[in-house]
Amino acid sequence: MIFAISNQKGGVGKTTTVLNIGVYLAKKGKSILLVDIDPQANLTSGIGIKRDRNDKEFLSIYDVLINKTEPISVIKKTRIENLDIIPSAIELAGAEIELVNLMSREAILKKNLDKIKHDYDFILIDCPPSLGLLTINAHVAADKILIPVQAEYYALEGLGQLINTIKLVKSNLNQELEIGGVVLTMFDNRTNLSKDIAVELNQHFSDRLFDTLIPRNIKLSEAPSHGKSIQEYEPTSTGAQAYDRLTDEILARFTKDKKQDVPSS
Ligand code: ATP
Ligand code: MG
Repeated sequence: MIFAISNQKGGVGKTTTVLNIGVYLAKKGKSILLVDIDPQANLTSGIGIKRDRNDKEFLSIYDVLINKTEPISVIKKTRIENLDIIPSAIELAGAEIELVNLMSREAILKKNLDKIKHDYDFILIDCPPSLGLLTINAHVAADKILIPVQAEYYALEGLGQLINTIKLVKSNLNQELEIGGVVLTMFDNRTNLSKDIAVELNQHFSDRLFDTLIPRNIKLSEAPSHGKSIQEYEPTSTGAQAYDRLTDEILARFTKDKKQDVPSS
C-alpha cells in the first residue's frame, strides 16, 4: 500500500511523520520504502543519508523522474533493518518545470513505483509544501493520502484546497485514491486553540482523524539534526510514544482487511 503524506502548507510535520512512522513500521517487522520527493531533501538527511558534495554518481528520485533511471538502482538501504529510501536531491527543484514537457507527466512516479511496490508492505512518500506536479505525481501513485495538520491558528486554511485537489486527482487520474487519515501535529494540551482545532477536525473528518495526537516535543525537532529518528534518539520521549501509537493505529486501520480475508476453515 502506498501512502502520500501531503499538505501544501509548509512546516506542518510531514517529514517528521514520514520518518518516524517509517521507522516504527520497520521496527514492527514491516518492509518499508520511504520516497523523498521534496527538493529540500529533509527526509533524506533526517534518516542519515549524506551526499558528498563531489559525489556526481549520487542517484536520486530526480534520476527516476527525469532521466529514466530504474527505481531499483536508486534505492538505498538505511541503518535500520526493513527500511529503504529513494533519496531526494537539490536537482529536483528544477523537476517541476522539466516534468511539464514529458508525456503522462502526472503518472511518472506511479509507473516507477508500480515496478517495485510488491517488494514492500508500505511505501511512504514525503511531499513538498506545494500542490505542483511533484505532489500530483505522489497523489497519482498513492492508494491513500495522510494529511498532517498543525495545531495552530491558520491550520484549517488551505485544507479545502488540498481536498479539492485530491478530488480532482481521484476523478481524473486515480479513481482508487482516498484520504486515509488526518493527524494533528504539534499539539499543546495547555492551549484552548489546540483543543478547538482537534474538535473542528473531528467534525470535518470524524473517523478519518487518528485518535493519536502528536504533541509538540522538542526531542522530535532535535532528532533529525543527528540524522536519527525519534525511536533511536529518545525512545521514551512523549513524541516517540505518540509516533509509536500512531503507527499501531495505522497498522490497525490498514491491515485488518487482510486478516478478514483469511478463510475460517
Ligand atoms: P516542509 O513543508 O518544509 O516540508 P514539513 O511539513 O515536512 O515541512 P517538518 O519538517 O516535519 O514539516 O517539521 C517542521 C519543523 O517542525 C521541523 O523543524 C521539525 O523538526 C519540527 N517539528 C515537527 N513536528 C514537531 C513536533 N511534534 N514537536 C516539535 N517540533 C516538531
Ligand atoms: Mg518536509
